[in-house]
Amino acid sequence: MPNEGEALRILVVEDEKQVASFIKKGLQEEAHAVDVATNGPDGEFLAQTSSYDLIVLDLMLPGKDGVEVCKTLRARKVRTPILMLTARDSLEAKVEGLDSGADDYLTKPFAFEEFLARVRALLRRDSTGDSASLRVGELALDRNTRKAQRGTREIVLTSREYSLLEFFMRRSGKVLSRAVIAEHVWGLDFDPQSNVIDVTVSHLRIKVDRGASFAMIRTVRGAGYMLCEEDDK
Ligand code: CA
Repeated sequence: MPNEGEALRILVVEDEKQVASFIKKGLQEEAHAVDVATNGPDGEFLAQTSSYDLIVLDLMLPGKDGVEVCKTLRARKVRTPILMLTARDSLEAKVEGLDSGADDYLTKPFAFEEFLARVRALLRRDSTGDSASLRVGELALDRNTRKAQRGTREIVLTSREYSLLEFFMRRSGKVLSRAVIAEHVWGLDFDPQSNVIDVTVSHLRIKVDRGASFAMIRTVRGAGYMLCEEDDK
């Protein structure tokens, strides 16, 4: 079991170059070491010959699919946690993945924050310490119920608003550009032509700041957005 904050060694078995590099880049930003295999047999070989803390395994792979790779690894007593990726949002694919010995699954496309949350849950570690709740000033976020509270007022969030607020809270006091927000909260399903970030921020701002004595979600002109703990006026 890795210690909190320890850099992990992670194997990513994924044939889609864009997905593999998205995951690799994100994990490297979290200080983890990442190896990528682009087909089933290479992934299976690396998983058996190197020691990894986690294997991210795509379901549809050339050479040998994720379910077969997973079955082989488990049969050979490789007990490394496996997070299965599937493009098929069908119950059948999930059941098949879990039956083969995978520990969890994630349906593509996914936001990187969701991917990281699954990785942390699998490794039973959380770099932010308290995994159940986050607090910034009078704003609290419960990761189990996915509800926020400002003071005593409860805030109900959509799933995207939740991901965005969690990202803001983990980086409170820092200016976050739209590019950084897109990468971490929307991930691969982000359409750069859209104004979805601004729209979601404005919805979140109404929920968080409405009726409050000061605005916590601020626009930093020409730079992006920032979550502030205190009224600095
Ligand atoms: Ca694939």
